[in-house]
Amino acid sequence: MRLAQNRMKMAMLAFALLMSMVFVSGCGGSDVKGGDDRPTVVTTTTMIEDLARVIGGEEVNVIGIMKTGEDPHLYDVKPKDATTIRKADLVLMNGLHLEATLDTIVKEQAAGRYVALAEQQGITPLSGADGLEVASDPHCWMDTRFYGLYAIEAAAALSEVAPEHEALFKERLLAYLDELIELDAWIKARFDEVPEQQRVIVTGHDAFAYFGRSYGIEVHGLIGISTEQDPTPQDIEQLKRLIRDNGIRAVFPESSLGGSLIQLLDKVAADTGAVVGKELHSDSLGAPGTAAGTYLGMMRHNTNTIVDALKGGRE
Ligand SMILES: [Zn+2]
Repeated sequence: MRLAQNRMKMAMLAFALLMSMVFVSGCGGSDVKGGDDRPTVVTTTTMIEDLARVIGGEEVNVIGIMKTGEDPHLYDVKPKDATTIRKADLVLMNGLHLEATLDTIVKEQAAGRYVALAEQQGITPLSGADGLEVASDPHCWMDTRFYGLYAIEAAAALSEVAPEHEALFKERLLAYLDELIELDAWIKARFDEVPEQQRVIVTGHDAFAYFGRSYGIEVHGLIGISTEQDPTPQDIEQLKRLIRDNGIRAVFPESSLGGSLIQLLDKVAADTGAVVGKELHSDSLGAPGTAAGTYLGMMRHNTNTIVDALKGGRE
């Protein structure tokens, strides 16, 4: 009953947003580049690259800046990135300071032709710890409803740079929103398999707050919402205590995390008897062509990985 209601709510939300869709203004027209007269759409993270490809299809030339496994918080900006961004007809980024290092370059070089998909009406960000500061949590794509809003905004922006394909983009958007609604219901059904008191996870950094809120899972990170900081010895001790006191079953490494954080997580698990689950994809999709190489596949992979580990016993 709850599933059906949520599904209906999400469908209504998507519909209402579509009806009130206001296309962003200020995007430039298409440029002729090297014989390819399609508009160039540059994306920052792999999730947003997937979205641009799903909605834009062959009608736009998508260039993704970050590759599989790269951490957007710590992305190592290449000299050619500024040129790529400068030549883009549209840059689709996440915003909310996820692209810490690329943020300024996009804002300087894209000259207004960029859209920060998480910074929009309809998305109220959660707050999280960023070192000693409290900041907006940028990992909004982990909520499938928010990702639906990313898709709506991306379709609107794509229609600005390629207005002749607007109907096609809308058609793809509607089909994709249906897939997101289906995904949301599937994830909820999978988590129903886990007894409520066992729905607690620990990850390397705090990227799963939106996911946890959507599916009733308590989430803890070894560090906060950015990977720009290192954990303190107190952070590590506090986390161990939390795992022991609450009998938390599993900790999960993330594919975009550096080796030192993964080693620390392994040690925390060894010291507390928690299971080390399989790798999750938080800030980067899996490799193109693999099951987790798309947003839909990544969300299914993460869900299966978490549910399977939480259903198993502690070692
Ligand atoms: Zn992150």
